[in-house]
Amino acid sequence: MDKLVSLGKRRGFIFQSSEIYGGTGSVWDYGPLGIELKRNVKESWWSRMVHQRDDVEGVDASILMHPRVWEASGHVEGFTDPLVECRVCKLRFREDQIDSSKCGRKPSLAPGHHGECELGEARLFNLMFRTFMGPVESEGSVVYLRPETAQGSYVNFINVQTASRQKIPFGIAQIGKAFRNEITPGNFIFRTREFEQAEMQFFVEPGTDEKWFEIWLDERQAWHRSLGVRSENLRLHEHGSDELAHYAKKAVDIQYKFPFGWKELEGIHNRTDFDLQRHREYSGKRLEYIDSGGGKRFVPYVVETAVGVDRTVLMLLSDAYREEEIEGELRVVLGFHPRMAPVKAAVFPLVKKDGLPELAREIVKDLRRAAVPAFYDESGSIGRRYRRQDEAGTPWCITIDGQTSENGTVTVRDRDSLQQIRINASNVLEWIRERLAFPPP
Ligand code: ATP
Repeated sequence: MDKLVSLGKRRGFIFQSSEIYGGTGSVWDYGPLGIELKRNVKESWWSRMVHQRDDVEGVDASILMHPRVWEASGHVEGFTDPLVECRVCKLRFREDQIDSSKCGRKPSLAPGHHGECELGEARLFNLMFRTFMGPVESEGSVVYLRPETAQGSYVNFINVQTASRQKIPFGIAQIGKAFRNEITPGNFIFRTREFEQAEMQFFVEPGTDEKWFEIWLDERQAWHRSLGVRSENLRLHEHGSDELAHYAKKAVDIQYKFPFGWKELEGIHNRTDFDLQRHREYSGKRLEYIDSGGGKRFVPYVVETAVGVDRTVLMLLSDAYREEEIEGELRVVLGFHPRMAPVKAAVFPLVKKDGLPELAREIVKDLRRAAVPAFYDESGSIGRRYRRQDEAGTPWCITIDGQTSENGTVTVRDRDSLQQIRINASNVLEWIRERLAFPPP
């Protein structure tokens, strides 16, 4: 993890938020390469979940919602972790993690182990961030930063269904920020207080929910594999009855083997009709489906797929990172699948003269015009330019040399095999496009 954090900073994937002020341990900023990687994750999700299907529509709901939403969803009452506070240090610890937590004093021991520390009783602590809407800071103006995107889809169920004329079964997909005042954020971008989720709520007729659960569980695993991660690093974990959330009939996590162990990446939940029934009760609105054909009326069940975008980015970084020794030198490589790589091709003139920079810039321009992110680099030895691209995860480096002006060919060096081949400069775009097309798993 330390290597990932340091590479993340050095190469501009992820920076500590507000670093010049000492940073915060619970939120992070994406740099130039990181934001491209994250956009690729979100675009891949959106393409597969929305654009490639007839039965899923997208929404982008607001972060600040009516406070009754969170009463209906159960978050005001139930979204809590029992915490223990040290009366002396004023630090709070999750009751279920006391033994593995560290006290703020030096030397750092488990909470309560320093002579003068004194732990209080466990108390419940709500994980939602509260703020005020409007100019007056009163209890009446309290609103919450959403702790999940799902509720924005539930409250828009009728709007989306009517506007898109969808019939059940159909889904509502959304990507957006969520906020949780986590007690123990950590492990880089794995658990933060501000993060991004990609969630989809699939509305089905009761009785068909179990079938749809299995369909979505398969589909979501296929998506993770399509990102190019090693399948031995993915596994399923089904929640036992003691782990199930209050709304869930069944829940299976897709876990990834992070450097700190197997952890949840995505949850697939059978939320039954819990949310729509609760919103029906709290809003007084008829949140039901009327089948125009047979006239059947029912409150749909929901199968939810909920993945963390940041956790997916962390998975891609962990899975891609490797160190190799080549001719006595250490090479650090991010072996992303080309479709996920922030930059697809780096183009180098071998020397800064003889018209080579101009030829190289032409190729960069052509690639960019075709929406293929390309990078131009003329500084330093070719070896150093290759190493920089290996660390950025760029799959192909294209070098323009003396032969280019003679016979119109360029070398393409493959990041993983290190093989170099010569192709026609006019074929570069087509050659890259062919390799970016991804066969469905
Ligand atoms: P965990 O058990 O890790 O706290 P959760 O079960 O509460 O997660 P969900 O409410 O199901 O998570 O949220 C769906 C997804 O959102 C998670 O699988 C995870 O990828 C992501 N997620 C949840 N909380 C965080 C967080 N604090 N930081 C980053 N991602 C998160």
